[in-house]
Amino acid sequence: MTPEEFRAAGHELIDWIADYRLNLSSGPVKAAVTPGQVSAQFESSVDPTPRPFADVLRELDEIVVPGVMQVQHPMHFGWFPANASLSSVLGDIASSGLGSLSLSWESSPSSTEVEEVVVDWMRQATGMSADWKGTIHDTASTSCLVALLAARERASDHSQAAGGLQGLSAALVVYTTEQAHSSVAKAALLAGFGRDNLRVVPHNHTDFAIDPAALATAMADDVAAGRVPCAVVAAVGTTGTTAIDPIGAVVEVAARHQVWVHVDAAMAGSAMLLPECRHLFDGVEGADSLTWNPHKWMGTILDCSLFYVRDSQHLIRVMSTNPSYLQSSVDGEVTQYRDWGIPLGRRFRSLKLLFQLRLDGLEAIQARLRRDIANAQWFAAQVEAAPGWSVLAPVSLQTVCVRYDPGSMSDAELDDFTLRWARAINDSGDAFVSPSVLEGRWMVRVSVGVEGTERRDVARLWSLMNEEVAK
Ligand SMILES: *Cc1c(COP(=O)(O)O)cnc(C)c1O
Repeated sequence: MTPEEFRAAGHELIDWIADYRLNLSSGPVKAAVTPGQVSAQFESSVDPTPRPFADVLRELDEIVVPGVMQVQHPMHFGWFPANASLSSVLGDIASSGLGSLSLSWESSPSSTEVEEVVVDWMRQATGMSADWKGTIHDTASTSCLVALLAARERASDHSQAAGGLQGLSAALVVYTTEQAHSSVAKAALLAGFGRDNLRVVPHNHTDFAIDPAALATAMADDVAAGRVPCAVVAAVGTTGTTAIDPIGAVVEVAARHQVWVHVDAAMAGSAMLLPECRHLFDGVEGADSLTWNPHKWMGTILDCSLFYVRDSQHLIRVMSTNPSYLQSSVDGEVTQYRDWGIPLGRRFRSLKLLFQLRLDGLEAIQARLRRDIANAQWFAAQVEAAPGWSVLAPVSLQTVCVRYDPGSMSDAELDDFTLRWARAINDSGDAFVSPSVLEGRWMVRVSVGVEGTERRDVARLWSLMNEEVAK
């Protein structure tokens, strides 16, 4: 494709994207496809001849779009807000268009330095001290793995330079709760700790946050048994209920055993942009690493996960490689982001964040987050006031966990009933919510916060829910 051909097709594609975003709220939220339906519409092997751009657009319209869950739809209340602000989409396109190669500072100085600037702007915008240095990873899953690798090497005095975990005489232990995201256990297993050394610490059953006294007991028990407490992954904003682990108390317990504290704020980190929400992160300055995803609620298109550490020199020692073909005369003066994570070749991810900050502005982003919190509180108040309905967990930000109990049902019948009305709403295409299990029982999570979701959309969901349970 020549630049002139690109220009013509690119204009058409931008028009297509703008129309798609303008019209998506008039269609169903849920992709109404069955497994295999999308793939069956493609040939089994690639046609070697080129096609006109119009054919590719038609394929997008007719095959791809029907198979996309419309997470940008104002009636999407599932999982978490996966906002993809159009300003950040432009930054993503710019990044792709540049086609730069980020292997080292030298291979694309701007890629490194814009990332340093934007990551530090976000540090300041979220009220974190200048002791933190950061980078952008693809996802919070990667950030958690990197944090646990750094923790492992700190606790084992850089065992990777010798026999690794296999050469240690005492097992290293990682602590988290059942409310933590599945990526935490995955990272602990991939980092080689082993399931036996992943402690699931009890949580409180009212706010679903970690019980710091239970954490202290678990660590003391491990020490008494000859094991070494290594890391605790605490969540500001758990997956199920957006519960807030008390970071200050966790840090205090962890400090007794020099344990690494990683704060997983993948979803809720956006709230740090609001000064009135920062108390949820109290104690964070005592943690060792923190991650949050602008690619969730804040709305920078996937993938964009901020990862901050207090001791970047330690991280670099764990992650660094310095092959001859990447050495240059400026080494030592510049940041080499390949030494802050796992991949060598890196995307120019900071551009989408830069574009969003420049084009939308922080104030508008903050206003939107405040709107969503107010909408969630309004919704929770309706639920609480309605007979049969209950809100099952504190509404710390924008997630509301609800159940309707018509009375006189067994636990199993009620679970069945909950799943039935939630699935009926989802299958209707009118709205989408996430049924999920809390303390062994089905409930429905309503995650407010899609960029296009206004109060009227939340009110409409509330009507749909009431209609459905009355059937
Ligand atoms: C979404 C989420 C994750 C996973 O994020 P990815 O970027 O998709 O890996 C981890 N932890 C929490 C608390 C989350 O909300």
